[in-house]
Amino acid sequence: MPPQDLANDQRAALDARHLIHPWTDFREQPVLILEEGNGVHVRDSNGHRMIDGIGGMWCVNIGYGRKEMAQAIAAQAEKLCYYSPFGFLSNTPSIELAAKLASYAPGDLTRVFFTTGGSTAVDTAMRLASFYFNVTGRPGKRHIITRDLAYHGSTHLSASLSGKPSDRGLIDLVEGTIHHISAPNPYRRPEGVSAEAFLDQKVQELEDKILELGSENVACFIAEPILASGGVIVPPAGYHSRTLEVCRRHDVLYISDEVVTGFGRNGAIFASEPVYGIVPDMITCAKGLTSGYVPLGAVMVSDRLYRQIAETTEGRIFANGFTYSSHPVACAAGLKNLEIMEREGICAHVREVGPYFQAALKPLMDSPIVGDVRGSHLMACVEYVSDKNARTVPPQAWQIAQRIIRETMPRGLMVRPMGSMVIMSPPLIITRAEIDELVAILREATEVVTEQLR
Ligand code: PLP
Repeated sequence: MPPQDLANDQRAALDARHLIHPWTDFREQPVLILEEGNGVHVRDSNGHRMIDGIGGMWCVNIGYGRKEMAQAIAAQAEKLCYYSPFGFLSNTPSIELAAKLASYAPGDLTRVFFTTGGSTAVDTAMRLASFYFNVTGRPGKRHIITRDLAYHGSTHLSASLSGKPSDRGLIDLVEGTIHHISAPNPYRRPEGVSAEAFLDQKVQELEDKILELGSENVACFIAEPILASGGVIVPPAGYHSRTLEVCRRHDVLYISDEVVTGFGRNGAIFASEPVYGIVPDMITCAKGLTSGYVPLGAVMVSDRLYRQIAETTEGRIFANGFTYSSHPVACAAGLKNLEIMEREGICAHVREVGPYFQAALKPLMDSPIVGDVRGSHLMACVEYVSDKNARTVPPQAWQIAQRIIRETMPRGLMVRPMGSMVIMSPPLIITRAEIDELVAILREATEVVTEQLR
């Protein structure tokens, strides 16, 4: 029997027997099988419809069920499904998408390297930084600075850059050349430290780390504009430009990881310059690049760096790339995705409904178990606490975010549980009415869970 004809419980049994899910403890657990999506909604295999408050995973930016995306993907698959992109070989969708991305990029970040997703984009950026300093005669510059609570991916190198304690410790990581500084989390600012002093401390910490390692040894600093998976941590205003200044002073490359913030989530195709006022040396992106319809990632690279490399390689090659770099079908999806975003003014829509979303969530702060509601545009986090005044992280046994999602799902809302936090990043086409519905369900779930914990 073809798998789609199996009964729900039979599929669940096959899942339990054969499918290893990412980020699980390998113990058997009930699975939720998603069958279809339309607009901001998804439907599970029981026919239950929910607002997708997490946009797949920060990625289904233009929403589900777009026929023209499916058609663009099918047309390219039929025309030329694949050809090697290595060396002198090229294909039309990747050329056109690179040029399109360059037209949106800040400053001179007009050179594009396509990857298979966010982790491989981050790996590529790190390897390019290393190549750059090696070919330009500064091989000592091999140390990388990153931050606690960062998430940069799931390859050996990108995982080593991540800083979430829950992701570290049980798998060996790169050692010796990767250094973490603290996350600029205003909610966890020590008591008695003003917002200005807090910002100064965070910026100083980066400079101190560079000085401690010796700037002649530091290649780059990598930072998400907003620490997304770390809990939608929005750094204080000025953090981005001041950390960039520090990097410039010490000849350290600044790599902005826009895997989440890119493609409209913060109201711009690339948030770095219009939202955060910085022109980094490289930008990594993925997810919203194709709105999750097919996998694709990219590294945007400064033309200045590119030229310096080109002038000095003397035939030595950048030995980095993937079978599926510049994949024609994925690039065709990226082109169609950007065409839809432009035609429908999706970035402008996010600039309009984003503040509405943030304002609609804020009153959740009235709840005795909500410590913080934060975010920017269409990314948000509700952080639950056991003692509001002391900002105490609830005991793990409370399973608070799991409890919340158990209440939101039957009411028609999917959110992402993460420790004591609930994370949201809905499709960017969400309307005010859908935001109202989302917030009402989350409020009700919070009230029910408050009662449960009394
Ligand atoms: N960088 C950031 C900021 C991310 O949030 C993620 C994934 O969530 C990645 C990189 C890794 O991307 P991928 O899962 O596509 O490899």
